[in-house]
Amino acid sequence: MVVGELVERRQSIIIGGGPAGYTLAIRLAQLGQQVTLVEKAQVGGSCLHEGCIPSKFFAKVAKEWASLQKLAMYGIQIEGQTFQWESAQQQLQKIQSQLTKGVEALCQKHDIEKIEGTAMFSGENRIGIEIGERFELYEYDHLILATGASVERESIFEPLGAHCFVGGDIYGIDKLPSSLIIYGADPYALEVAFTMKQLGVYVHIVAEPDSFMYDSSIEKELRRQSKKKKIKWHTSEQLEATLVEERVHVKIEDGVIIEADALYTSGVKRANLHSLNATRLNFQMNGDDLSVNERYETSQNHIYALGEMTGREGGASRAIADAKRLASIIVGEEVLEESPFFPLILHTNPPVVSVGLREQEMDERHIASQIPLMTSGIAKVNGTTDGFVKVITNKETTLIEGLHMIGEGAIELSAHFTQLLDMVAKEEDVLYSVQAHPSIQESVIEAVENLRNLAIHQ
Ligand SMILES: Cc1cc2nc3c(=O)[nH]c(=O)nc-3n(C[C@H](O)[C@H](O)[C@H](O)COP(=O)(O)OP(=O)(O)OC[C@H]3O[C@@H](n4cnc5c(N)ncnc54)[C@H](O)[C@@H]3O)c2cc1C
Repeated sequence: MVVGELVERRQSIIIGGGPAGYTLAIRLAQLGQQVTLVEKAQVGGSCLHEGCIPSKFFAKVAKEWASLQKLAMYGIQIEGQTFQWESAQQQLQKIQSQLTKGVEALCQKHDIEKIEGTAMFSGENRIGIEIGERFELYEYDHLILATGASVERESIFEPLGAHCFVGGDIYGIDKLPSSLIIYGADPYALEVAFTMKQLGVYVHIVAEPDSFMYDSSIEKELRRQSKKKKIKWHTSEQLEATLVEERVHVKIEDGVIIEADALYTSGVKRANLHSLNATRLNFQMNGDDLSVNERYETSQNHIYALGEMTGREGGASRAIADAKRLASIIVGEEVLEESPFFPLILHTNPPVVSVGLREQEMDERHIASQIPLMTSGIAKVNGTTDGFVKVITNKETTLIEGLHMIGEGAIELSAHFTQLLDMVAKEEDVLYSVQAHPSIQESVIEAVENLRNLAIHQ
């Protein structure tokens, strides 16, 4: 230590106040730790300010706007309705501000010391925090990195300049483009595609073959729904993007050229280590992600890491679950085992949930059954008959191994689906319970009954 240098000591320091960092901070405080949370921008991270919240807000806006067209079927006539992108953005900002204040209040309630500044490594077992003109030094018992990942466009899209939107930045644009090419079939890209289409943007999707991660029958139905909504899908292994007179030109296979005002890509992620001045620690990397073991320890095993920067699949949902497990590890409590089931969710129109075994992974031991929502009374009432519920079970053991749905109600049913799989449910467990009538849950019972040719409405 340099004479006169003041170094403070803290029990647990977390760098990054996104969903990974603030969940860990709160849980550690609940478990009796003294916690310091360092955040250089706003708590809530990219989840609240760029990703989850903006994307779900605009998915809801798009759904509400589209549902206006259905009102006539209930005898309701309204005229002169308009949609204003700027007003919707103002409402989003209000929600974001309320949620940010909510996280801050939770930190206060749990006596978490919040430092607004940029943290960086400053020697062995020591970090420095730049707070405006000041630079403060800290040592710690536990240090946890939760600084997220930066999102960059793929190099093929460099020529597009400002005509290329990446990650969450599309939800902050001033004006909607009149046409958009969506690159990829990942959840963020598909959500942008459906949201933009319903808000009146002309949309193309260009995806690589085999880039769809859901059950194959869901893909087929989603493509059918896209076609109905006049979203054009193109599959191409290679593409070339250029800007011609302020228009995006994308050349796909067979020399076909698609044109639009702009292109959207979810981009490629890279662990945020730069601002941490982390090169001197020589962390082990896994490509662009920071490597951690099953105890969330980095190669500097006195330093933990969590969330998007570790490259674990599953976005904020995974980061939040991991934060709770890491808190137990840090305080030496029993750690809950990780569930092998992770629901893939799409806030498209119609929405999707896909969890467990997929059709393309079935073998001779499995059997599948699919019930169209067209047969559901409540779907008819709601005017949401597009889609189906699908169950995959093991013929011998009757164990449920996969549950999938495309259709209104999928997001709400995702918890039920995941719990059935986590609780190792069998066909009879679904048949045993009484479900509300009329409800979309009845379609799950029908799907299981249908395996035995006993579905009532088939
Ligand atoms: C369009 C889009 C939609 C999405 N939708 C969903 C969804 O529906 N569901 C879902 O689960 N996930 C979704 N995600 C993913 C989700 O946003 C991320 O997985 C999540 O935000 C990662 O959380 P994190 O805490 O690891 O990182 P972040 O949220 O990125 O937080 C990191 C924080 O660290 C801070 N920081 C960085 N460096 C420093 C430093 N040196 N000092 C101090 N602070 C620092 C940053 O300012 C930031 O606040 C979406 C993402 C996008 C782009």
